[in-house]
Amino acid sequence: MDLIKSILFSPDKCNKCGKCSVACDKGVIYLNGLFRPIFANLSRCDACMKCESVCENNAIEVTFY
Ligand code: SF4
Ligand code: SF4
Repeated sequence: MDLIKSILFSPDKCNKCGKCSVACDKGVIYLNGLFRPIFANLSRCDACMKCESVCENNAIEVTFY
């Protein structure tokens, strides 16, 4: 069952710190060559909200069912 409805990412707020990628221990978030987070493997996401919590710029908004 998918827990995640959506992960909204606001690139204009992101400072490319990479903390969200480190915080996600499910391997959902990785950084591309420009250190921009990419949300892949969403089926692994358990809606822990760590990525949203760790982002100091409020660039991530997780919505789940
Ligand atoms: S934690 Fe926030 S600011 Fe840092 S890379 Fe992730 S989305 Fe961007
Ligand atoms: S909610 Fe948790 S498992 Fe899902 S992408 Fe964010 S840190 Fe990873």
